[in-house]
Amino acid sequence: MEGIRGLVCRLVLENAIEHKGKAEVDSVVRRLAAELPELRPKLKEVLPLVREIVSEVNALSHEEQIGRLREYGPLERPKRMRREGLPELPEVEKYEQIVTRFAPNPNGPLHLGHVRAALLSYEYARMYGGKFILRFEDTNPVNARLDMYELIKEDLRWLGIEWDEEFVQSDRMELYYRIAERLLEGGKAYVCTCEVENFRGLRDKGEPCPCRELRVEEHMVRWRRMVGGKYEEGEAVMRLKTDLRHPNPAVRDWPAFRVVKSPHPRVGMRYNAWPLYNFSVSVDDHEMGITHIIRGKEHEVNELRQRALFKYLGWRYPTVVQYGRLTLAGMKLSKTEIVNSVRRGELSGYDDVRLGTLSALRRRGFLPQAIRRVIMEVGLTTVDASVSWEGLAAFNRKLVDDIANRYFFVPGGVELSILKAPEISEVEVPLHPSHPERGKRRIPLRAEEGKLLVRISRVDLDSLEEGKTFRLKDFMNVVLKSKSPPEAEFHSMSLMPNVPKIQWVPERGVEVDVLKPDGSVEKGVAEPGVAGLIPGELVQFERYGFVKIEKVGERVSAVFTHK
Ligand code: GLU
Repeated sequence: MEGIRGLVCRLVLENAIEHKGKAEVDSVVRRLAAELPELRPKLKEVLPLVREIVSEVNALSHEEQIGRLREYGPLERPKRMRREGLPELPEVEKYEQIVTRFAPNPNGPLHLGHVRAALLSYEYARMYGGKFILRFEDTNPVNARLDMYELIKEDLRWLGIEWDEEFVQSDRMELYYRIAERLLEGGKAYVCTCEVENFRGLRDKGEPCPCRELRVEEHMVRWRRMVGGKYEEGEAVMRLKTDLRHPNPAVRDWPAFRVVKSPHPRVGMRYNAWPLYNFSVSVDDHEMGITHIIRGKEHEVNELRQRALFKYLGWRYPTVVQYGRLTLAGMKLSKTEIVNSVRRGELSGYDDVRLGTLSALRRRGFLPQAIRRVIMEVGLTTVDASVSWEGLAAFNRKLVDDIANRYFFVPGGVELSILKAPEISEVEVPLHPSHPERGKRRIPLRAEEGKLLVRISRVDLDSLEEGKTFRLKDFMNVVLKSKSPPEAEFHSMSLMPNVPKIQWVPERGVEVDVLKPDGSVEKGVAEPGVAGLIPGELVQFERYGFVKIEKVGERVSAVFTHK
């Protein structure tokens, strides 16, 4: 702990000088976490030290503080944590502390497309020693799903994203009601009971609907009826009064609250009037002191709607950082489609390997670092970008190649007898060719009367030629005598140049089911050591691909990662 005293002193002094001589424990802790990420799990333990130094430093005069800080080197604004490839955020100087948020709707699992908003918001908060908020936007009772809150958090944690604060919008209804009433009382919003079609017809012409013109008192009555459940769904909406001549009709008098009579998975039937996205997002972005909203350009029109609300309430709209579209080639991503397919049993779950959800990627053996790299690479570009399975696999392969130990696996598999084989009862092969320190795996064999039985893949057998020599990888060279029945003859042990090398397994291997990315299962046999792997382990089946072990035992199940 004492080892970090110097760093804490410097941070406290800097913080004090920035804040009129009074350092704040919370901001120091946040900066500390940003500068020393390893410390994050132990922040509680550092707290007493920070408190002690803060009270010591706050008792000093400004000059004394400057003098002390000079001891730590020339005075300049502390260098920000550089995040690889991330440009500076705009308008940072406008705010005392950077606050960002990730605001998922818990209506489905997170997929690769969501990582961008989450990761960039998180990274920027860290880069500036700021605060990162996780907020569940669950004000649509119909599609919020109870199982998603936890799954989303699990996915974020897996990605290495930690949040400083967590909020759930369905807990904040009273706040939304208060703001709604403020707007109604100020004549900035009204409760509209027009048929939607009629309203739209007028709106598109830039004309007010009959409700808009009614007195504030009438709208208050209607509002109470809305809140009290006196309207049925679709009978009333609260609209924000905007400029009816706004060039984009979609921005005119946009709906802020609607009636929903279905139970909410968290709060049941407690509320009848529910805020729509643009309303609750605005209230929360303001209330939570969000300084930078990092979002896709599909929210451009929403931003216009939200700005109108901010203006009425005299709030300052956060700085928006917009990024371009990201296409994810070949990935099934629509949340609703995913949820429905799971419900209908067409997919095995949110982690069905055919999906681009984070849980599916995790299950398949993609590492969070690879996902982060891919998304950071795309970063904030405003031009449309695309990520493909191949691109993601390329990043992942670089990482797992070093981690994954090697094993032999033979898909399908035919028995090959090797005649005139020497008496060998075991072959030792390194677990990883570039990591001899990891040791070797042992493949037990049984040769009876000079005849040895192994299994090779049907595809390999078909590609071999009778009379030609080939090598059973890491083992011996043999000459193919006949394809049917498959028979070969021992040739030699030491490595031979220019002969095909194929993987093989002993007669008694372990059966493995490999779940492929298209949902099919490929059956095969692996060397016996595979039965002793730990579920979750990533290995490479040589010449076949990387797999993540899912279940071990009599039969092993593995999930195919990529080639
Ligand atoms: N809940 C919104 C979404 O997931 C937040 C978008 C935003 O306001 O940035 O799209």
